[in-house]
Amino acid sequence: MDYLDLAKVYEQLESTTKRIEKTKIIADFLKECPPKEIEKVVLLLQGLVFPKYEDKKIGIASKLVVKALNTATGIPADEIERNWKKTGDLGETAHDIVKRKRQHTLFSSDLTCDKVYATIRKLADIEGTGSTDLKLKMIAELLTSAKSSEAKYITRLLLEDLRIGLGEGTLRDAIAWGYYEKMNSVNIAAENESIFFGKDTELAKIRDKIQEAYDITNDYAEIAKIVFAQGLEKLGELELDPLKPVKVMLAQKVKNTAEAFERVGKPAALEYKYDGFRMLIGKQGESITIHTRRLENVTAQFPEVAKLVKANVHCHSCIIDGEAVGYDPQTKKYVPFQNISQRIKRKYDIEEVAKDVPVELNIFDILYYDGKSTINVPFNERRKIIEKIITTKAFHINLAVQITTDDEKKANAFYQQSLNAGNEGIMFKTLTAPYKPGSRVGYMIKMKPVMETLDLVIVGGEWGEGKRSGWISSFVLAVYDPDTDEFLEIGKFGTGVKEKSEEGTSFDELTTLLKPHIKNEKGREIIIKPHVVVEIAFEEIQKSPSYSSGYALRFPRLVRVRDDRKPDSCSTLGQVEDMYREQ
Ligand code: ATP
Repeated sequence: MDYLDLAKVYEQLESTTKRIEKTKIIADFLKECPPKEIEKVVLLLQGLVFPKYEDKKIGIASKLVVKALNTATGIPADEIERNWKKTGDLGETAHDIVKRKRQHTLFSSDLTCDKVYATIRKLADIEGTGSTDLKLKMIAELLTSAKSSEAKYITRLLLEDLRIGLGEGTLRDAIAWGYYEKMNSVNIAAENESIFFGKDTELAKIRDKIQEAYDITNDYAEIAKIVFAQGLEKLGELELDPLKPVKVMLAQKVKNTAEAFERVGKPAALEYKYDGFRMLIGKQGESITIHTRRLENVTAQFPEVAKLVKANVHCHSCIIDGEAVGYDPQTKKYVPFQNISQRIKRKYDIEEVAKDVPVELNIFDILYYDGKSTINVPFNERRKIIEKIITTKAFHINLAVQITTDDEKKANAFYQQSLNAGNEGIMFKTLTAPYKPGSRVGYMIKMKPVMETLDLVIVGGEWGEGKRSGWISSFVLAVYDPDTDEFLEIGKFGTGVKEKSEEGTSFDELTTLLKPHIKNEKGREIIIKPHVVVEIAFEEIQKSPSYSSGYALRFPRLVRVRDDRKPDSCSTLGQVEDMYREQ
C-alpha cells in the first residue's frame, strides 16, 4: 500500500475532532486494506512501529530530522528552524518545506507503508560509531521520496508524536465497525452509530470481543490482523503468554465497609492494601519477566524478585499479580513508595540498590497456571492455587494477608489492623469473580483514609525567578480525555514541591524530569509534552471557564510523582466529572 493513502487517512483524522467520524474513517480504511498489510498499518495509525508493550523507542532527535530535511530539500537548516519556531510542529514544517523544495530529485519514488515501517524499525536498532550519519542518510532518503503530506507524518512518526487525536477506544470501535461492514457487505453512515453501538447489538458484541482480546494481548495490530484475515472467532483462541505483559485488574473506591460489601457481595475476601508497587510476574520454565502496570519490563531492575519467584513459586508456568513493598533492611520498616520507584529506572548498580532497598512481594492473584489461563476461574479458587504453589518466606515473598467475612464489625477491625501494620487500607474482593485485565469492574474494591487525589499530567509550566531561577516553579496540570486522546488543562500547582530533595520531591527533581519533554518556550512560559504523571491532592473540584477541561482544582498540591503511570492512563475527564457530581 502506498504511504500516501495512509497520509490521507491521517489528514482526514486530523481534520475532525468528532470521535464518531474518526471511527468511521478508520473503519472504511481498514475494510479496504489488504489483510497482509493490516498489522503494519494499524501500528502506523497509532504512530508506532513496535507494539506498545515492547516499550521500544525510535529515539530520533528533532535536530537530526532538521538535518535530514536540509539534506532532502537543500533548504538551509536555519530556515527550517525558523519555520519550526513559527509552526511549533516540525511535522508541519516538513510539510511546508518539502512542498517548496529546491532540489527536486529525479529518483523520487512512491513510498510504501512497508518502506516507511521497515526503515523506521531499522533506525531504532542502529547503534555505535557512525550511527548518526547512517540514521541521517536513511531519514533523508525517506524524506527525499516523500510528498509534502507524507513528510509531515513521517516526521511526526520519527518524533513519536503523531498528533492525530486517535484514542484506543476509537481504534477498537473502528476495527469492530470495519469488520462488521465487511462481513455484512453494508455501509453504515457515521450518523447511524448510536443504533449500532447500543447495548447488545451485534456490533457491540464484536466490540466487546475485541476489547477482551486487547486486554490479553495489548496489541490492536495483532487483533486487527486476526479479525480481518481469519475472522472474529479466531480471537477466542488468543491465549495469555506468561512472558508478555498483561493489563492488571483495577479497583473501585468506597468510603466504608457497608458500601464495600454492597458492591462485592457477602461474604467477601478482605486483604491488606499494601503501599508499594504493582508487579505482574511471568514464569515460563527458567525464564522470568516482571512488568509494571504500565506494561514496562522491569525484569533487569529487580533481579532478587526473579530469584525469589524461581525458588518459591512451584509451577512450570504462571503469571502472578502482587505488590512489591520496599523496606529498610536494618529496621525492617516499610519505606515510602518513592524509594522503590527509583529502582524502576535504574540502569547501573542494580544489585547494590537492591541491597539498600530490598522489596517484599505480596502476592494476591494468579492469571495463568501451568499452560492455562486462570482469568475465568473464581477468585477464591485462584487464591487456593497461589496458596498451593507458593512457599512463603518472611520479608521476601508472602501471600496478601486475607480474611473472609460477611461481618462489617470484623471488616472494620481488619481495616484498623491493616492501617496499624503500616498499610494503606484494605481491599474487598468478590469471591466468585473472574480476573478482568485492564478493567475497573468492581470485583476489587479499595478502602483507605479519605484524601481526594487525581493522577494528572504536567503539560506546561513557568521558569522560576530569584532563588528558584533555573527551576520550573509552577506546573500546569491536565486530565486525559480518552474520547479525543487529548490532554485538557485543569489547574496549576507549585505547592507540595520541596526546596530540597530529602524532604520529598524537589523543584530540581521535577525540572530534571520535565526538561527533556519541553516542547516550546516563550519568556518564562513553557509548554511540555505530556509525559510526567503526578498525584495531586486538592480540596474541591470547581467548574471553570479558564481551563480547557472546564474544571479547576481548589488548592492543588503535589503528593508524589507517579512514574508507574503513563499519561494516557492518568485520571480521565469522566472521572473528574464523576467526582464533581459526587461532591
Ligand atoms: P491507589 O493510588 O489507591 O493505589 P491506583 O489508581 O494506583 O490507586 P487502584 O487499582 O485504584 O490503583 O488501587 C489498587 C492498587 O492497590 C493496586 O493497583 C495495587 O497496586 C495495590 N494493592 C495493594 N495491595 C493489594 C491487594 N491485596 N490486592 C489488590 N491490589 C493491591
